[in-house]
Amino acid sequence: MTADDHLPLAVLAGDGIGPEVVPVAVEVAAAALEPHGIVVDRVDLPFGGHAIASHGAPVPQTTLDGLAETPLWVVGPHDSASYPDQLRTPPPGALLRTRFDLFANLRPARALPGVPATTPSMDVLVVRENSEGLYADRNMAVGAGEFMPTPDVAMSIGVVTRAATERIAVEAFEAARRRRGHVTIVHKANVLRLTTGLFRDVCLDVARRYPDVRVSQQHVDAMAALLVRSPDAIDVIVAENLFGDILSDLAGELSGSLGSAPSLNASSARAMAQAVHGAAPDIAGRGIANPVGMIGSVAMLLRWHGDRTGEHRVTAAADAIDAAVAHASANGARTADLGGAATTADVGAAVRAALSEVG
Ligand code: NAD
Repeated sequence: MTADDHLPLAVLAGDGIGPEVVPVAVEVAAAALEPHGIVVDRVDLPFGGHAIASHGAPVPQTTLDGLAETPLWVVGPHDSASYPDQLRTPPPGALLRTRFDLFANLRPARALPGVPATTPSMDVLVVRENSEGLYADRNMAVGAGEFMPTPDVAMSIGVVTRAATERIAVEAFEAARRRRGHVTIVHKANVLRLTTGLFRDVCLDVARRYPDVRVSQQHVDAMAALLVRSPDAIDVIVAENLFGDILSDLAGELSGSLGSAPSLNASSARAMAQAVHGAAPDIAGRGIANPVGMIGSVAMLLRWHGDRTGEHRVTAAADAIDAAVAHASANGARTADLGGAATTADVGAAVRAALSEVG
């Protein structure tokens, strides 16, 4: 066995349902890679509420050091709303994205076979800018991007730069070439004329380099309505941080359930699989969380790695995971949020069993 036959994965279970869905997703990855002769080397790192208890911080230095050494990460959600006040900002997810410049957040939404979806025909990819935008908590080198001049006045700093917009637009147009060849630029340039107007204009500049890709643009509020009314008209959405976050939750829920929605955060050097959903404290500890979003995120991580390195065995494992999830779903392995009765572990076992059927 050579070094190529080992795939190190940094694993951060996180809070709430994280310790339930993350191990299931890692087991599925290991099962999909095993027939290709690749062994997962799991590197567990402290993260979230447990890390506050053991290390005094949700993302301790030892975790940052471990992540710096490992390009592929599987990360559960945080429940920063439950942290002590002084440890809530920046939220752990934002800290990781900023520290490692994970500028591209790719969030596909597609209905699974057999799942009652509000919009069963949806097949959309939201490409969300991850490093700036209207999320003020990541916009300042020093100081906070939100502040209160008086107890009754709150202000927030939004940032849009040409460089960050250009690189996310390139991600969106490249993705469209691999899909149905259509990008919709989302903005609100009738009101936020300078910030989201710059975002729109830079995306349009990038569009000129992709004459084979069709371009549309929508205001974010109109886009929300369009996602419900005509999802077939949408292929790839490119949006700044806050708009992309909201639209991807909407698309995820419309195509089945927030719990099924996968997501990848990537720089040019490393990538983090982290499902769209949060820590779901309302159902944590009951073994009923839907692991499909986390499993799909891990499939995206493997595909990102396979495409980048030319390691076809890893790409094949990613394809097998997606096919196995669809197969298991069609055969009724669905958690309560999808109208089923399966537990988190049941779904994991069904997906692992389906790997041999789709392989
Ligand atoms: P949430 O996504 O945790 O939950 C929203 C609703 O969806 C809840 O009813 C929950 O039960 C349900 N849900 C979410 N994931 C599910 C799954 N896998 N299976 C079944 N049902 C699922 O959002 P929230 O309630 O706004 O946030 C709770 C905590 O999570 C907060 O502390 C928030 O800051 C944090 N959060 C973290 C992330 C992240 O780490 N990426 C993202 C969003 C929210």
